[in-house]
Amino acid sequence: MKRTSRDIRTANRYEVLRQIIASSPTSRQELAAATGLSLATVATLVGELLDLRMITEVGFEDSAGGRPRGLVAVNASGGALIGVDIAETYVHVELFDLGLNVLARAEEDVRPGESLPEQVVGHVAAAVGSVVAQAGIEGARVLGVGVSVPGQVDRATGISEYAPNWDWHDVPLLELLTEHIAYPLYLDNPLRASAVAERWFGAARGSGDAVVVNLGTGVGAGLVLGGGLHRGVSNSAGEWGHTTIVLDGRLCRCGRHGCVEAYVGASGIMLTLRELSADSALLHPEDQTATIDALARGVRGRDPVALKALRDTVRYLGAGIADLVNLFNPEVVVLSSWVAAALGEPLVTEVREAVARHALPRPMAATRIVLSPIPTDPVCLGAATFALEGALQSVGQRQTKRTAAPARSRTAPPS
Ligand SMILES: [Zn+2]
Repeated sequence: MKRTSRDIRTANRYEVLRQIIASSPTSRQELAAATGLSLATVATLVGELLDLRMITEVGFEDSAGGRPRGLVAVNASGGALIGVDIAETYVHVELFDLGLNVLARAEEDVRPGESLPEQVVGHVAAAVGSVVAQAGIEGARVLGVGVSVPGQVDRATGISEYAPNWDWHDVPLLELLTEHIAYPLYLDNPLRASAVAERWFGAARGSGDAVVVNLGTGVGAGLVLGGGLHRGVSNSAGEWGHTTIVLDGRLCRCGRHGCVEAYVGASGIMLTLRELSADSALLHPEDQTATIDALARGVRGRDPVALKALRDTVRYLGAGIADLVNLFNPEVVVLSSWVAAALGEPLVTEVREAVARHALPRPMAATRIVLSPIPTDPVCLGAATFALEGALQSVGQRQTKRTAAPARSRTAPPS
């Protein structure tokens, strides 16, 4: 795809806004240094964001002599964003102000068997309605809704191309949601959303090269490479969960055998537990959340079956993450999503040891392995940033219709 001057301008405006959100209050000089844009370009973009009331002037920086520098900060009440995390077992929705602080949240359980698109759409619509009502904001202030759905998605058309857990093929998800939700909608998947959340606000802040490993029902890796989010040619990069770790191994829900996900996804962990002890009290048939929670309690209580299940899982997980370390030489590997959050530090400790057994010493020495420090749902946060990016894009389109956009601005690295 050819990037037009309008795309570059939108990307630059987004880059400046995200810097302001991450480090309010800040000066134009600091923004120029952080983005690599010229001071003149930053000043123009700051002017536009002021006109849009997304940011405000907040006084001057204390300076010992010299001209005082004007400071700008995000105008938190200048709009609201909604992030939707559709997962196999739940729908989480969070409503944010423009500073990306959570104002309201809602959660719906997706029960086994509730896999029809209409059922999932019903949960999303109910939760979105709930957060808007809770926050008590006017609908007009909602700039957009970012929606994350597992599997492969086409961002341009809003189609869920393939969601293995529900056997969805080419579901026109955004079209179905539009019947219930009046705000602009933007679709992507949890790998992208969690990678962006870590890069803006989490463990990958300031890292040009990071891997965000999502451990939930599904498993995958969000990739930040060379300072930008890596999507691949058809937005499906990072499907690490469906790389083969055991030839002719366990059947995976993608239909192939021996995938990473079949061993370290929530249902893979349940199968490992069942193989170790078929009548274990830790097992809650048909309930992944209850089983993983019980396993986490068992690990903390030094239950031998729980410890063995964790160790067996980490044998595969460690080897798989070592592949990511060798391939991408990241500065940080972040363990994210609900299974990682439930198992917590005992998981990270085991993973560090296991990765060190498989990865090459040089990339291993350069890599930190940490839990996601984001206290709320990182996927909702990342999805909300997609809505923000989309909102800036539509502003750009409206402006271009009025005036021909000047072509002379340098490109900031994509977020
Ligand atoms: Zn698979």
